[in-house]
Amino acid sequence: MNIHEYQAKEIFNRYHVPTPRGYVASSVEEAVANAQKLGGPLWVVKAQIHAGGRGLGGGVKLARSIEEVSEYARALLGMHLITHQTTAEGTLVQKLYIEEGVEIADEFYLGIVLDRAQEMPVIMASREGGMEIEKIAYETPEKIIKVTIDPFIGFQPYHGRELAFGLNLPKEEMSRFSAFAKALYEAYMENDASMVEINPLVRTKSGVFVALDGKMSFDDNALFRHPEIVAMRDYSEENPIEKEASEYGLSYVKLNGNVGCMVNGAGLAMGTMDIIDYMGGEPANFLDVGGGANASTVAKGFEIILKDPNVKSIFVNIFGGIVRCDRIANGILEATKMVKVDVPVIVRLDGTNAKEAVEILKSANIKNIISATDLSDGAQKAVAAAKGALV
Ligand code: ADP
Ligand code: MG
Repeated sequence: MNIHEYQAKEIFNRYHVPTPRGYVASSVEEAVANAQKLGGPLWVVKAQIHAGGRGLGGGVKLARSIEEVSEYARALLGMHLITHQTTAEGTLVQKLYIEEGVEIADEFYLGIVLDRAQEMPVIMASREGGMEIEKIAYETPEKIIKVTIDPFIGFQPYHGRELAFGLNLPKEEMSRFSAFAKALYEAYMENDASMVEINPLVRTKSGVFVALDGKMSFDDNALFRHPEIVAMRDYSEENPIEKEASEYGLSYVKLNGNVGCMVNGAGLAMGTMDIIDYMGGEPANFLDVGGGANASTVAKGFEIILKDPNVKSIFVNIFGGIVRCDRIANGILEATKMVKVDVPVIVRLDGTNAKEAVEILKSANIKNIISATDLSDGAQKAVAAAKGALV
């Protein structure tokens, strides 16, 4: 789950990670009132959308008067902001963050993610603040300092020194930077974050380290421990189909192809997308219907897949380990009565009672339900059907 910059900064403040003063606004009047509260003389009007790259996309404006704040707020609210991280249509700006303008002396990058290979959080820091970190990692990886923290030991002073030395900070700034990184590490750990990123972290002309930007994502599996973070969820930023799927316990991720996929188990779902690609097609989605697939989950699956107008065929790939294939076959037939499915559905069922399942589908004799003999046959047929070929 992702949150907005203003929400990340709220969390930062709780952990004493310094940020510029600021207030969120949903209208021009509120933006102006916030600017007056801050006092000036320099304000920054920042569009609150989950995507990054707002500055380059025109979503971060420096204002030198209350009139300018008002002007920028009017222009930004209600616009569809396009950045390299949004879709081509952009994201609707519904909220702004009005922040005091900071005199920047130096820009850094500071982030924490989980290093899955080492099974520990890793802090990354760089002097190349304000730039795309992915680009730096690709072109000049030596410019990123990485310090892994063993969660059982926690953030120690030597971790801070390692970061500060790596960044070539003058001696008098080391302990301040170290305290900043430690505070951020605590915000990351205590909230079960999966990512926190400050780009840029700046040193102001008065020598203070401040988080000018803030991005945070959380581990969905730990959200039950953090109701105050769940309350920060902004559904308007999420894909409506993905949201509906999650309400029914289905993991759905929309993709750009035209072969819909309904699979049980995340691993098999990944494998299914690979084989569709291998057969020359492109998956329209990832969909894991979970271990206990039955008629109503399959029906919901069909409904969700078919909300995507690009879908030209559906590949049902279910391995009956705990669930029996005959029950799934009956479930598929029942589901087609609940939901109108007007694209070819290629069904590959394997595992317990697979033979009976094929018989059930065959004797139902529904024109657009086609049984596959195995995985590659199924993928091939689904790809051919999506291209409009007879299967
Ligand atoms: P994004 O990463 O989405 O482009 P940022 O919050 O990083 O958005 O803002 C973009 C740029 O705007 C920053 O790199 C910084 O140069 C400038 N900026 C942002 N907030 C402030 C601020 N409070 N004071 C001065 N400059 C700012
Ligand atoms: Mg930024």
